[in-house]
Amino acid sequence: MRAMVYRGPYRVRVEEKDVPRIEHPNDAIVRVTLAAICGSDLHLYHGLMPDTRVGTTFGHEFIGVVESVGSSVQSLVPGDRVMVPFNISCGSCFYCARGMLSNCHNVNPNATAVGGIYGYSHTAGGYDGGQAEYVRVPFADVGPTLIPEWMHDEDAVLLTDATATGYFGAQLGEIREGDVVVVFGAGPVGLVAARSAWLMGAGRVIVVDHLDYRLEKARTFAQTETVNFAEHDDVVVHLKRITDHLGADVAIDSVGAEADGNFRQHVTGAKLKLQGGSAVALNWAIDSVRKGATISVMGAYGPIPNSVKFGDAVNKGLTLRMNQCPVKRQWPRLFEHVRNGHLTPRDLVTHRIPLEHIAEGYHIFSSKLDDCLKPLIVPTPA
Ligand SMILES: [Zn+2]
Ligand SMILES: [Zn+2]
Repeated sequence: MRAMVYRGPYRVRVEEKDVPRIEHPNDAIVRVTLAAICGSDLHLYHGLMPDTRVGTTFGHEFIGVVESVGSSVQSLVPGDRVMVPFNISCGSCFYCARGMLSNCHNVNPNATAVGGIYGYSHTAGGYDGGQAEYVRVPFADVGPTLIPEWMHDEDAVLLTDATATGYFGAQLGEIREGDVVVVFGAGPVGLVAARSAWLMGAGRVIVVDHLDYRLEKARTFAQTETVNFAEHDDVVVHLKRITDHLGADVAIDSVGAEADGNFRQHVTGAKLKLQGGSAVALNWAIDSVRKGATISVMGAYGPIPNSVKFGDAVNKGLTLRMNQCPVKRQWPRLFEHVRNGHLTPRDLVTHRIPLEHIAEGYHIFSSKLDDCLKPLIVPTPA
């Protein structure tokens, strides 16, 4: 089969690989019909994630058709159209039993630190991902779900991570009626978080980024106010000024480890890898919210320490909430929101790239060329 393969930082290409096989009675093999490149794939692409091995295939956002199933799979048969959460979950461990599907204890040798994720390095379990013609899906009775008849494929693929994660980000913000919500980062996750904030009763939603085309999208997709931090000497002071000098009630960090905006943080975090990513957005959130506020962290950070203003968070009595999104737990409610038009994930798609050209896709997305917001990957037909 054809598959995206990692060859080292900033180098990916499409290669011929063996079609994955059933390795366990609970496995399914899925023929991928649509995949996506995620902002967090760029952390891998840039060489920021420890133990990202040459030869592995990325891709934790994909949908497809069941090709074959292991002998103990009960809920799927070949030919089923399925969407697959980015989290791999066993469905029965201490964490899965409590709905913490992103924190499963049985799917990653490093499970005390992080759960299992498709195509996200050996730190996250060493699973090959879905930027390929076929992918092996373990615990096939737990994660994959039939795509509803009425759902568009592009909505379905965006529900496997970005939409679910953005909505979860707003949920963790514990937004109350009338709250001022600031969202850092106008990528797909931030844009969904901003739109979801309205669904949860926000009174004002402000999106912060430095890319004008993304801020424009925040205004049209999520009807928010926008702040371009590059236009302000000190974005924290500006945010205070426009929020009655108290600060927002809720902040959502949907930027994570590769934030721009502070030279020392960016160099030590994103370039030299001396910390687990640059915490600029998180520190801006800590500084700009009011005392007693809640900060929800959806941005991806690496497993080594970060330079975070923890003392300020303590002294302001902030609540910091975070986790990787337990995707499947979100789906029943999100399906309703998509069906009734409250959320329109596929409006975020900007590029549809054949798998053969995925290297170009990574380059365009990484360099933010051509107003790229969400690139989809279309595998060549089997
Ligand atoms: Zn993703
Ligand atoms: Zn589990």
